[in-house]
Parts: sequence; C-alpha cells; structure tokens
Amino acid sequence: MLAIFVSIVSCKEEPKEEPNSEEIALEEVVERYEFGFNLDDFIVVRDTIKRGDTFGKILERNKIGYPQIYNIVEKAKDTFDIRRLQVGKPYTLLCSKDSLQQPQCFIYQPNKEDYVVINFQDSIHAYTNKKPIKYVEKVLTGTITSSISQTLDSLGVSQVLANKMADDIYAWTIDFNRLYPGDRFKVIYTDKYIDDSIYAGVHNVKAAYFEHKNEPFYAFEFETDSEKGIIDYFDDEAKNLRRAFLKAPVQFSRVSSRYNLRRRIAYYGNKVRPHRGTDFAANIGTPILATANGTVTKSSYTRGNGKYVKIKHNATYSTQYLHMKNRNVKVGQFVKQGDVIGWVGMTGNTGGPHVCYRFWKNGKQVDPFKQKLPEAEPISDSLKMEYLEFIKPIRAQLDNIKFLEDELEIKIDSLKTLDKQILVEDDLITEK
Ligand SMILES: [Zn+2]
Repeated sequence: MLAIFVSIVSCKEEPKEEPNSEEIALEEVVERYEFGFNLDDFIVVRDTIKRGDTFGKILERNKIGYPQIYNIVEKAKDTFDIRRLQVGKPYTLLCSKDSLQQPQCFIYQPNKEDYVVINFQDSIHAYTNKKPIKYVEKVLTGTITSSISQTLDSLGVSQVLANKMADDIYAWTIDFNRLYPGDRFKVIYTDKYIDDSIYAGVHNVKAAYFEHKNEPFYAFEFETDSEKGIIDYFDDEAKNLRRAFLKAPVQFSRVSSRYNLRRRIAYYGNKVRPHRGTDFAANIGTPILATANGTVTKSSYTRGNGKYVKIKHNATYSTQYLHMKNRNVKVGQFVKQGDVIGWVGMTGNTGGPHVCYRFWKNGKQVDPFKQKLPEAEPISDSLKMEYLEFIKPIRAQLDNIKFLEDELEIKIDSLKTLDKQILVEDDLITEK
C-alpha cells in the first residue's frame, strides 16, 4: 500500500518533456507552499540547530544586528521562548529575494507536526501552527503460515500494526504465542501523513477480523466516553475484548511447560512432579508485565523461586512471577495491567531463561488457561444499541475484504519448538 502511495507522489514530481508552448508552460508553475508561505517569494535557507547555536547567533550569522535581535526576542517571548531551541531540530529562514537577502522569518520545528513562526517582515509577531495532516484509510490481510513471534521484526511498517493487534486489540482473547498455521486476519486501519507525504505512523485501527482455529474474532474500535476520550475494542456482540487478565506476562514468548499436576520427569525416575505454573520461555531481559491491576504483596527472593514478585488483584485472584533477572516493583506498590514488574532471568532453580507464571484463585494455584476470566469493562446498556448500529456498515466493509494471502506473510518457527520442553526444576522446592 505504502509503496504504491509513494510511487504516485514521486511520479508527480518527475520533470516532463514539455513542448514549447506558453499555455502548458504556465500550468507547469507549481507554487510551493509551506508553513503558510509561498516559498517562491523568498530565498529559503534550511538548517538544523547545531551544538552551541543560539537564536541570536543564527540571526547574526544571517546578517541581522543585535538591537534588532533583542527586539525580536522581546516581542516573540510570549509565544516562544527562544532558549527552548533543541540541537538537531530543523529550522528555516525565509530571506528577501533582493540583493540584501535579509531574513524575514524564522521558522522552527520542535517536532514533525508543529512549527513556530517568528515573522519580522514588517512588525514583529510570532505564532505557532500545525502542518496539515492527512489520514489515509487502508486495508491489510494476512495468513499465518507457522506462528508469530520472530516475524514481527521483519514486517517494517506493518510491525506497528501487528503490535497494535497483539497488544491493544487481541492480547486478551487470542494467545499470540500459540497461533496456528492457517490463522488469518483482515484489518482496516488509518495511516497518518504530515504535509501529504511524510509518513507519521499508524493512527488507529478501526476494525479487525481474526480467524483463530477457524473461529472468527471481530474487533471494532468504539468510543465509550467522548468526554474522557475512552476508546475500547468490542466484538460483534458488544463484548469487551479486554479481559481482567492478559493471556501472558511476556510478549512473543512461547509456553515451554504448561500447568500439569501429573507431570512426570524422566530425570527423577519418572516420578510425578506436579507443575503448578505456566512457563513462558523468553530471552533474558525481556520485560515481564503485570497481567492485571493489583497491589504487590511480595517482591523477594527464595532459593527455588529466585527473584520473584506476587501481585494481589482482588479477594479472589493473585499472580506470581518467578526467576526474574531483576525486579522492578516494591511491596505495597499499585501496578496496572501491562506495567513492567521485572525482567526475564534464570535466578533460582531453573534450567533456562523463562518466567514461571503462577495463577492463584482463592489461595490455590490453578491453570490460568482453564479459567473463564471476566471481561474488563462491559459496554453500558444505554450504549449497546448505538454500538450495534455503529458497527453494521463497518462489519459489512470488513466482510467484503478478500484475503490477499501474499500481502503479509508471517513465518516463525515457534510452533515447531513448542513440543521441546525445557527441564524446569522450579517446582521441586516447595513455595512459601
Ligand atoms: Zn514453572
């Protein structure tokens, strides 16, 4: 999509062979507008702020004397404090086209979108403004050929989008560590462009459809509170896609050992060594996320657990995270779902880098994958009808999109490694 867009833009700028006709020559005159000025009226000097540069030095270098610089700074200071110029940021000087080539305007860009104009053409005045922004709605489809974890690196522009799907939209309903070959998706999203051509990232995802193990998962973006600007994703039956708990405490990991009360380990003469946790293998240093809001009740070390953290979510549920390289929270601290509470390591009794995730329900350790977990915040009854009306045309649009299998190919090998079990000994020492 992007490639097509870019090529259209560059075609426009290609110089054409012109017949010698005045009429056509007139059409060829393209006025270059930027920052609200016709750049053809000026000599345009573009540069970036260098170390040691000050507003005064820049103007002085460009033939403006000191009493005048002082005046400009005084008049502009309510709009822009010239001491806030940052090294590396671009600025533009618009200079007169006469023989003096005196600067008439200083334009500073603190970011891609905003710019500050200090105009001293006649009287001195300063203002801030935004560059025009264009939103382009796009459609992407893809099929998972093996699974997902390492692929996301190679997706370029689409990685942002893939992360948005994995982290913001489906983190609670689809386990992205366990995708299946043949799983496929469609997504309607908006890209943002500044000044028509500068790509500024994915603006939002309007709707998505994910087919996981032949089950459809619809997701529609919907604003539930326009005053607070609260946006959530709901499915085709108005159920919130967010759950009280994340599916996994680490992103793009793989489950190396499941909760299994009858696990037998050959190394120990095939004796039953129950595994009351779920092991997520990931590289050392991978952030470990709180799977739900809660209060830290333990941030400690034992010989078996290594460095670990336990979080109490409510009267019913607590979660625990073992073998951390380092902890990032203190006892009594309130954490939000998705907060980084530590990093994957191999402290304590473990055969490889992973986080052993323990899910406590009413004081007992249970299998989190077997729990029916509550949805985060259901849509209110008063909004439900409005929502169902709102999604009708968007759903039709989604359903009409054909799968283009080659557009996004995801090749990862984590499915193949799923059967490989790392020998993990963390359960051999009783937890306290
Ligand atoms: Zn474990």
